[in-house]
Amino acid sequence: MQIDPKKALENPIFSIISTAANELGIDAYVIGGFVRDFLLKKTNPKDIDIVAIGSGIALARKVASKLNGNPEVTVFKNFGTAMVRYGDIELEFVGARKESYDENSRKPVVENGTLEDDQKRRDFTINALAISLNEANYGELLDPFDGVADLKNKIIRTPLAPGITYSDDPLRMMRAIRFATQLNFTIYSESLEAITEYKERIKIISNERIIDELHKILASKKPSIGFALLHKTELLAYILPELTSLQGIEEIEGQSHKDNFWHTLEVVDNISKNTDNLWLRWAALLHDIGKAPTKRFDKKIGWTFHGHEFKGAKMVYGLFKRLRMPLNDKMKFVQKMVMMSSRPIAISDDIATDSAVRRLVFDAGENIDDLMTLCEADITTKNAKKKKNYLNNFSLVRQKIIEVEERDHIRNFQPPISGEEIMETFNLKPSKEVGILKEAIKEAILEGEIANEYEAAKSFMFEKAKKMKIFN
Ligand code: ATP
Repeated sequence: MQIDPKKALENPIFSIISTAANELGIDAYVIGGFVRDFLLKKTNPKDIDIVAIGSGIALARKVASKLNGNPEVTVFKNFGTAMVRYGDIELEFVGARKESYDENSRKPVVENGTLEDDQKRRDFTINALAISLNEANYGELLDPFDGVADLKNKIIRTPLAPGITYSDDPLRMMRAIRFATQLNFTIYSESLEAITEYKERIKIISNERIIDELHKILASKKPSIGFALLHKTELLAYILPELTSLQGIEEIEGQSHKDNFWHTLEVVDNISKNTDNLWLRWAALLHDIGKAPTKRFDKKIGWTFHGHEFKGAKMVYGLFKRLRMPLNDKMKFVQKMVMMSSRPIAISDDIATDSAVRRLVFDAGENIDDLMTLCEADITTKNAKKKKNYLNNFSLVRQKIIEVEERDHIRNFQPPISGEEIMETFNLKPSKEVGILKEAIKEAILEGEIANEYEAAKSFMFEKAKKMKIFN
């Protein structure tokens, strides 16, 4: 890695910080993710971490006083840190610390420390790299734990013995797996063993923190790396037992079913090539969770997972609630995708009829494209011919969706005749009859008996009303 660390300091902010630190008579370093990403040739930092050998808050104030417009300094007194906004970058200041931990919490006892003390308390060697902002050695890279070598060899390793690092702050187990996924790095074997050993300590971490890391894993290019590691270290059973339960192949009377856990991971990787929508990725991750509780063996038809979509959609609610994820439209979207995840397959088995496609578009509404993306990702057969067939069928369904949409505008279906108009026309009070008429009009449109337009619906309504003897 022949990169000159001084080049990391091209942004004028670094000389401003350097001058500010000099005026306060303290040393300062840029440390952590910024240095790591610079060495990985990733630019566009969102935040820059500065460590001061002294008060980080005082340094933040001094830096802010030198910046145009005197930006506000946000102080987090409890943590001894401060944040200053510089354009769209957040500058995070902290005083160098030495930490010791209590068994039951992530909150360390903190004392002032040296740069090396501070580097030791960092989670990984690749996150402990620092570049000096001091006159004497401006631009020098300080790497006491061989982080540069680990970057080159693509290894996640802790500066201290991994058992201590993970047991002190179990969130680091999630971070190790998250970085391994984002960077496509390998977790050092001792570290992996330590994570497995201390997995139970994940219980002291809040759900919000865990979800934060899970989101980052799921938003990566190849999320399966992270989920396979969560599975291997057995952390997954504490976080998403619904997924762990999908693992395994059972055989009865020579008939077996696929391993739905590994299948799910393939689906998630597939969908990640086609969408960055985090919630659609969640839907892919959870689309089969109903299969564990609904699995049955039937002597005549073999393995079945009858109703797994409905069960799965219900489980989504419990899972979101347990993990304190939002119980809002995002969750409803995931539920809907899980609930409908087998629908396009069912209609593409045969030549899809217009009315089946209309019903699909009606039920999926504005989410029809996402649903098709999910179903295409769900094709994981290793049989090339079958795969081609499925994909062909889906592209025919997609084509039909466009045709039906252009003709019938079903996606955001609004009944062409409202309940009020029905009541006025036939002088009816709100009643069962009104519901029946409304439903009959909708059905006629979805079945393709009439076009999705006012005049056609109106004459259909009169005919139907006649048959119902509401009107002669
Ligand atoms: P990214 O921004 O991609 O998440 P980052 O490394 O900047 O990467 P942050 O969470 O912003 O991640 O943390 C900044 C730095 O603080 C890290 O590089 C690491 O040195 C240190 N750090 C963060 N969390 C921990 C932790 N739980 N234990 C030890 N060090 C940590």
